[in-house]
Amino acid sequence: MRKRAAIVTGGSRGIGRGICLELGRLGYAVVVNYATRPDAAKEVVAAVAGDGGTAVAVQGNVGVAEDRRGLVARALDEFGRLDLLVNNAGITSQGRKDVLEATEESWDVVFDTNLKGPFFLAQLAANEMVRLIGEKTIPDGKIINISSISGHTLSLNRADYCMTKAAMGMMTRLFAARLAEYGIGVFEICPGVIASDMTAPVKEKYDRLIAEGLWPIRRWGQPEDIAKAVAAVVEGYFPFSTGGRIDVDGGFHIRTL
Ligand code: NAP
Repeated sequence: MRKRAAIVTGGSRGIGRGICLELGRLGYAVVVNYATRPDAAKEVVAAVAGDGGTAVAVQGNVGVAEDRRGLVARALDEFGRLDLLVNNAGITSQGRKDVLEATEESWDVVFDTNLKGPFFLAQLAANEMVRLIGEKTIPDGKIINISSISGHTLSLNRADYCMTKAAMGMMTRLFAARLAEYGIGVFEICPGVIASDMTAPVKEKYDRLIAEGLWPIRRWGQPEDIAKAVAAVVEGYFPFSTGGRIDVDGGFHIRTL
């Protein structure tokens, strides 16, 4: 029987890279999607292979319909099945401008990448999974959306980013309710501040805030922390759950007086 197959958007760096390595170790054949940096994606493919796994790098902008179709088609061509989609690719607000200065240019690219792309890719993947389950090629399916603490915590200089991440929670519940009858589980994994290229520009700020106790577990999150949550979902440790949010944030979401 063929290996279970996964698409990880933005799998070439940061959190996505960590997820690809974990899935490779779990025996998934992985489509490592990237947008602009083929070398980074190739490095991930080599690292998965070095661990004894299977992966292929596939370029595609998740904000573009044709690229999304290409991603799903490539997974099916290469691996003959699709068991898992991880909607991980995301970008922060362009120019990090205050609410009163925020631009439509940033809004459009952030919404296309962080919300429209994941929604319509989930739709494409879900329809394929339903077909594959119907013909008994796969037993079940999973869709995991990587959101953010920014979905429930304000950054006044990243309004568009915050709104896309808040909407991902609703998107997760919509797909979860629609797909449960087919055996497709849908989950939101909500990272806190994770060490990656995205947070490199704000490293000193968070070094200080973490030391001061901004969240109870006083360290940076790592891509491996998110990858372990993905592993728990895909290995079936949440069999009676769907549509929920899994916080991987060092306890940041806990409110304290
Ligand atoms: P990152 O280090 O900046 O990596 C972003 C990845 O997404 C890269 O592989 C990049 O590929 C890819 N990508 C960007 N735009 C894309 C597009 N239009 N189509 C396809 N791929 C695209 O980011 P990260 O920190 O790992 O974040 C990953 C996800 O976690 C994002 O959704 C982010 O919002 C979320 N998150 C991050 C943190 C954090 O603290 N880092 C916290 C909460 C949530 P190229 O290199 O080829 O452009």
